[in-house]
Amino acid sequence: MKPLVRWLSLLAAASMSLPPATPSPAGSFDPQYENRREAKNIIFMVPDGMGLADVTAARIHKNGIDGPPLHFETLEHIGYQRTYSENSTITDSASAASAWACGEKFNNGEICFHGDGRPNPASILELAKGMGMTAGLVATSTITHATPAAFGAHVANRHCETEIARQYLQATKPDVLLGGGLSKFQPAIADPCGSSGDLIPRAMKAGYTIVRTKAELDAAVSDGACKLLGLFAMEGMTPDHLRTPGTAEPRLPEMAAAALILLEKNKNGFFLMIEGSQVDWANHANNPQYQVGETLAFDDAVKTVLDWINANPGRKEHTLLIVSPDHETGGFAVNGPTDRLLRSGEYVTAGWTTGGHTGSDVPVWGQGPGSSEVGRALDNTDLYRIMKNLLKEND
Ligand SMILES: [Zn+2]
Repeated sequence: MKPLVRWLSLLAAASMSLPPATPSPAGSFDPQYENRREAKNIIFMVPDGMGLADVTAARIHKNGIDGPPLHFETLEHIGYQRTYSENSTITDSASAASAWACGEKFNNGEICFHGDGRPNPASILELAKGMGMTAGLVATSTITHATPAAFGAHVANRHCETEIARQYLQATKPDVLLGGGLSKFQPAIADPCGSSGDLIPRAMKAGYTIVRTKAELDAAVSDGACKLLGLFAMEGMTPDHLRTPGTAEPRLPEMAAAALILLEKNKNGFFLMIEGSQVDWANHANNPQYQVGETLAFDDAVKTVLDWINANPGRKEHTLLIVSPDHETGGFAVNGPTDRLLRSGEYVTAGWTTGGHTGSDVPVWGQGPGSSEVGRALDNTDLYRIMKNLLKEND
């Protein structure tokens, strides 16, 4: 217990004149209540497949060669992590996210599920839910894609996306699910795990408000929805650089803002994973406009989260924010130009060594309680332990 919290508790016990602490409505701030509660929030943000050179390219495009840092670059602690999986020097997104979510190495393709029969550990999201916290998953891929799936499902094969959806609704029950992937909830054929059927009626039965557009998302938030399933595209969402004004799909920062409003209603704290899924797809495609667009859209979402955290001292004291790519994709390098300095709006001269993932270590940024632990050379499984230690303090 923090000294200020202990002092307030003693004061409250000694004096009946202090009003009882009551939760404040979502979005408002009651300093007395915030200082008393000891809940810890964890926000885990993933720019999938983003290497350090991607950061250089996006920052130069936005701010010029000597301009200010991107928002996630301003976090207090910076380290880097190994990403290898149990069976490969080069991880995929499933085993990398499983290492974070469940704290062990998994084979490529496994979603917190050991194919050899070893027991599957509970994920950080499941631990948080078990402690009375709320939880959310936000992504610009299908919401059942490998990275969010590792936090909310246990399956042998990442392609079992309908089974992953079923487990979200019937087993792990995240309070907020926002992304693409309506086709996985209403599949034309069974997935590789044999799961099929229309899951939307099941979601409604489980208490989810279903939204398909940004307007519906905004309406659900202002109507006070507590459980929200947003499926804004049949598959992945529209890449940021291809969007036109007036699109019905929310952007990643808008989904992040909606998730924060809903999850904060629970005063026991929350776990929220937010993924900029398509930095990876842009690097697979060796496409600089796509890569910079997705990296900057992800950074906009980080700004939304930082603005939320910094809006009051209680949030700042009690929220761990980690920003971490899962692996590098493309072997992307900044090769030029060598004869002049780039200005904002320009693209670096670049090259890729592969259309796949690489085994390079990737950076990790952090701020808030427990975040000093990320400021060193890590293994990806260490991030699980850093988050779990914070949950223990909630217990
Ligand atoms: Zn990935």
